[in-house]
Amino acid sequence: MTYDLRGKRVWVAGHRGMVGSALVRRLEAESCEVLTVSRTEVDLKDQSAVRAWMAREKPDAVFLAAAKVGGILANDSFPADFLYDNLMIEANIIEAAFRSGVEKLCFLGSSCIYPKYAEQPIVESSLLTGALEPTNEWYAIAKIAGIKLAQAYRKQHDCDFISAMPTNLYGPGDNFDLNSSHVMPALIRKAHAAKLNGDPEIVVWGTGMPKREFLHVDDCADACVHLMKDYSDFEHVNVGSGEDLTILELTKLVCELVGFKGAVSHDLSKPDGTPRKLMSAEKIRGLGWSPSISLRDGLAQTYEWFKSSEFSKQ
Ligand code: GDP
Repeated sequence: MTYDLRGKRVWVAGHRGMVGSALVRRLEAESCEVLTVSRTEVDLKDQSAVRAWMAREKPDAVFLAAAKVGGILANDSFPADFLYDNLMIEANIIEAAFRSGVEKLCFLGSSCIYPKYAEQPIVESSLLTGALEPTNEWYAIAKIAGIKLAQAYRKQHDCDFISAMPTNLYGPGDNFDLNSSHVMPALIRKAHAAKLNGDPEIVVWGTGMPKREFLHVDDCADACVHLMKDYSDFEHVNVGSGEDLTILELTKLVCELVGFKGAVSHDLSKPDGTPRKLMSAEKIRGLGWSPSISLRDGLAQTYEWFKSSEFSKQ
């Protein structure tokens, strides 16, 4: 083990988000003290506020899960927010982590950092070998900068900062707003509403042909804790399931689990995005981690969570 979490003060930055809240749940199983701070107390885009909070609280370890995130339409519509907010959040936290003597930091990125036409499954070394997918290049550029920041502090200051790149995540606490969500929560919500309303069809964006890989957020949190304890190196690590399916196949699975028996139509005015982004899971498997929640089980559990949430009543 490279880093022992026992007895440590561990800050989960972004604890209200889907990934951050999964990390907080997962860390209950570790004998550490979890620190969180609300947005009203500390604006993570404000450098002096972040520096002051970290100097006072002195976390030993940091999971950097705070980010402005969104689906294909939100990314495409708000490029300035996705680039600026994410650059500021990660730069402030990583620099303040160095200043305040944080022992270990895990930065969380995204599979969209890779070139649009990267060879599949995508290995970690494909980073910066080709042009990005235009619909989310703003977010991708910010996340690439985050990886490089972690590497730069390791190189210049010997900081034990690492980066994990999760694939498309889903699970409890996801954003189910149809204009800003990712595909999985959107399909759950659409199929549920169509079933209740007795609609003849649901509308899927794009052709349904792009392929995506999905990982339950609890598996992602488990992987990040594993990396925090057992990984210490420059290169980022892919966190994925190693399997993908087409958006149409996913739609059929969601409809089956929700119990919607109608048709599927396509809104071709919406973008497909990158044709495929299956990440290689070889590196993380070699580090002794693999996922434990199947897509079918994870989806069924997420649908149960959705039905008890406010989103299902709107
Ligand atoms: P991406 O992985 O960055 O492209 O983000 P998304 O999860 O938003 O989209 C994945 C794929 O699902 C894209 O090809 C979308 O066009 C497609 N898709 C189909 N229906 C929907 C929908 O209702 N919402 C979203 N966000 N994507 C959809």
